[in-house]
Amino acid sequence: MGRGPTKDHYRIMNENFVEGSLTCLTPAVIERRITTEFPLVLNIEPTNACNAKCYYCPNGEVVMNQGVSFLDINDYKRIIDQIKSHKLIMLNFHKDGEPLLHKKLPDMVEYAKEKNAADVIHLNTNGILINNKVGRGIIERGIDDITVSIDAANKNTYQQLKGIDGFDKLEESIEKIINYRDKIKSNTNIRVKIMEFDEIGKDEIDAFFERWSDIADEVQVTGIQ
Ligand code: SF4
Repeated sequence: MGRGPTKDHYRIMNENFVEGSLTCLTPAVIERRITTEFPLVLNIEPTNACNAKCYYCPNGEVVMNQGVSFLDINDYKRIIDQIKSHKLIMLNFHKDGEPLLHKKLPDMVEYAKEKNAADVIHLNTNGILINNKVGRGIIERGIDDITVSIDAANKNTYQQLKGIDGFDKLEESIEKIINYRDKIKSNTNIRVKIMEFDEIGKDEIDAFFERWSDIADEVQVTGIQ
């Protein structure tokens, strides 16, 4: 189960995240590498396909205009080969789609780890497939850090924001993947996140902390960017 400390610690820790930045970038980490001439972080979008319909997300429009595509593994490897000597702070799998829909994601993680491409290999996911083969695979291949954007502490808010059902199954999948992570003695850090949408009041954020503090490694609240 989760290795995280107390709820108060999470609150303090959240204050240390850089507002509006990517998850896991703290001021201390940025300061450490701020003099670099090469970008600190690389976002890679394995696919623009998504299995949710968040009302605030441009994904539907992007797919309508551009169609669905999946990053070719050889193109991905070429990118990693080009950036590996710069040693990024973070390689982040995410942009407009859901990365766990890409079946080769475990291979992508493994290649980036082999090439030592970044200090942290990070996945941002909606978590729906986190306990499936690909979700388990990325942990087995050594991904460092996962952020699951749950964004709700109850079914209604989840349905309202994400446009789909499946809240109970999502919670169950996250608990199962944390147990699996522990079972295989992986060091992957698993964080759950909620954003301060208008639909989410303080009570729901408190309930979210209550729900996940003893289970996930970190619980994060982020503002709307
Ligand atoms: S899960 Fe992410 S990519 Fe998919 S619709 Fe929601 S915000 Fe967009």
